[in-house]
Amino acid sequence: MTVENKDSAARFLDLTADYLAGGYRRNREDRAGSPPPAEPAPGEGTNTAPPSPIAPAAGGDSLESVAADVARCERCGLCGGRTNTVPGEGVPRPLVMVIGEGPGADEDATGRPFVGRAGQLLDRMLDSRGRIGLSRNVNCYIANVVKCRPPGNRNPQPDEIAACVPFLIRQIKLLHPRIILAAGNTAAKTLLESTEGITRLRGRFAEFTGTSLTRGEFSIPLLPTFHPSALLRDESLKAPVWEDLKQLRAKLAALDEDYAALAAGRPL
Ligand code: SF4
Repeated sequence: MTVENKDSAARFLDLTADYLAGGYRRNREDRAGSPPPAEPAPGEGTNTAPPSPIAPAAGGDSLESVAADVARCERCGLCGGRTNTVPGEGVPRPLVMVIGEGPGADEDATGRPFVGRAGQLLDRMLDSRGRIGLSRNVNCYIANVVKCRPPGNRNPQPDEIAACVPFLIRQIKLLHPRIILAAGNTAAKTLLESTEGITRLRGRFAEFTGTSLTRGEFSIPLLPTFHPSALLRDESLKAPVWEDLKQLRAKLAALDEDYAALAAGRPL
């Protein structure tokens, strides 16, 4: 996806969120050694940060701050029907960040992402009997594009996505995963700012890019694949998803020595 093709409105949101959240590019030493630096407070190094309900708290951003801001958010109409907000869960320094569409009934009831049938399938896909070796308890973080349940499990609307995506961008910046796995149409199209559907996007690595006034540009490999709920409806999608997971494994092994050692001990 070239800069020229990016949607200007989404880019404005990205840049706004970058500005509010600050930015960074963590390196390998950050992941293996000392804790990552806190995200700068809005306006750090400047004196012009506007107040905003999506702005990180003064003193630096954190996953907890994102969750707290989400919990009190009323930026779109989805707040009216929610039981719980669903910010995301997983380890704070993940190899992979899985991003889905939005909470369903089970997620709305529990406040946790991907806990229904599709979520259970996602957990099995990520592990694949140890051959992929990914888990939200060990090396993944799981979140959605929107943090409140769309009524009737409908797709989130563009205005709802636009309102909510700054939270996701803050999470991506805080987590800085090795790879983003975009599950389904909404996640892939939103993150890649693409008009192409998941059938065309899946299975091809792209880059999620962002910019920061304080840290410059960053880029994270992003692999689109089908949403696990699509697999529940259509078993024929399991084969292409397995191909995508094998690609994910190969890319991770190339990017992370520890994961490479794990993969080497578990041949496909
Ligand atoms: S979906 Fe996102 S933007 Fe909309 S109310 Fe929930 S947290 Fe706020």
